[in-house]
Amino acid sequence: MEELLKQSASQQRKALLNKEISAVELANASFARIDEVEDKVKAFNSLTKESALETAKKVDDMIAKGEELPLLAGIPTVLKDNMNFKGSKTTASSKILENFVSPYNATVTEKLLNNYVPIVAKANLDEFAMGSSNENSAFGKVHNPWNLNKVPGGSSGGSAASVASCEATLALGSDTGGSIRLPASFCGVVGMKPTYGRVSRYGLIAFASSLDQIGPFARTVEDAAMLLQVISGLDERDSTSLNVPVEDYTKSLNNDIKGRKIGVITDLMGEGVSNDVRKAVENAIDTYKQLGADVVEVSLPTLKYSIGIYYILATAECSSNLARFDGVKYGYRCADANNLLEMYTKTRAEGFGAEVKRRIMLGTYALSSGYYDAYYKKAQKMRRLVKEDFDRVFEQVDALISPTCPNTAFDMGARMADPLSMYLTDIATISANLAGIPGISVPAGFDSENMPIGLQILTPQLKESDLFNFAYKFEQEHDYYKTIAKL
Ligand code: GLN
Repeated sequence: MEELLKQSASQQRKALLNKEISAVELANASFARIDEVEDKVKAFNSLTKESALETAKKVDDMIAKGEELPLLAGIPTVLKDNMNFKGSKTTASSKILENFVSPYNATVTEKLLNNYVPIVAKANLDEFAMGSSNENSAFGKVHNPWNLNKVPGGSSGGSAASVASCEATLALGSDTGGSIRLPASFCGVVGMKPTYGRVSRYGLIAFASSLDQIGPFARTVEDAAMLLQVISGLDERDSTSLNVPVEDYTKSLNNDIKGRKIGVITDLMGEGVSNDVRKAVENAIDTYKQLGADVVEVSLPTLKYSIGIYYILATAECSSNLARFDGVKYGYRCADANNLLEMYTKTRAEGFGAEVKRRIMLGTYALSSGYYDAYYKKAQKMRRLVKEDFDRVFEQVDALISPTCPNTAFDMGARMADPLSMYLTDIATISANLAGIPGISVPAGFDSENMPIGLQILTPQLKESDLFNFAYKFEQEHDYYKTIAKL
């Protein structure tokens, strides 16, 4: 059973169809694994066992009746705890939502349930998805399964760690500036951010609405492609979701990449990148050359501004999005206030953590009259230049590669005292959110301390099939994904 849990979703699906295992057994195996390792990993804010077993039971009934199984039916899957799942607590890892119970399902949740995917748990995250290490959670830190003293990355740290530790086979995360790709790279799993609009954000607790996007975590590229297929599509409840057909992303996984052009982002290969990470990307370049791809060097001159642009736009949007948490409509309310204003201020002072408050203050400042033109408007203009930078390089190449992060997972506490060093962790991932393009992180080896390294691949908007193709070809040339963290 333990062995089956370590396998991919596509292998587990075969075992279900061949009746080697039932869906209820698979779900129970997942919970047994959670019992075994969760004390060490601490990936979850809550378990949703009853619902998972109910869904698994339905899958077994379908198998017994010989009905056709939807893709990923019966595969144990985790939701990041900023996605609504009716009847479950949805906290965004914030004290202000500590006792908030979802009254409805997010679209992604509904899609999973419609496909009979058992949702086993709600994963811990940085509060409101603000962070790169999962240390900003109000409900404790998640530990990296490869080394429990290190961070799993953030903000979807619980999602990444749960897949890396085989507590679940698949997970969903959200990525505003790298929050899927970064923890995927730190935890040695696959993590993918789709094109902005590819997946509905309805029911995702908003951080920065023009950048947020939900995407899959898995241990293999094929599994991530299947999960994206299940959650994608136009949704009338999210006006930014795209009216384009959902593709079968597994179809072109194995396409020949001979003659295709890949650009190495030179701006992300120089100073500040650890030697082990640089070597891993150089090895990836060799792999792609051996596969017949044409690898060239490209530069994105706006890349050095991406963190600055992001921390104006994302904070501006969050200062507005988080205004709704005022003690009236949702969750926490302070104990004793003498009037309405005091209730608002005390609730927010007590309910939000330090990083969230920092962001709200920065964003409010950037939007305030007198500063709006100098900061917010300028950042919007710069955002367009970032997009144009990508448009220009994508005229020459089909995909871009770089490290997902200049370094591997760091020690817990190492960057907490210095927000800027924490923000810099996202230097390689943030530009993709600003441009709205898809990106993936795939395991690309280990550093001298045996911590996983991630390779980032980026393609133009809506070229997810290409993205998975490039990722799959790389994955299949190595066996990094077969090595699983020992716990
Ligand atoms: N680390 C970035 C931040 O703190 C990105 C977070 C995310 O993608 N949700 O804002």
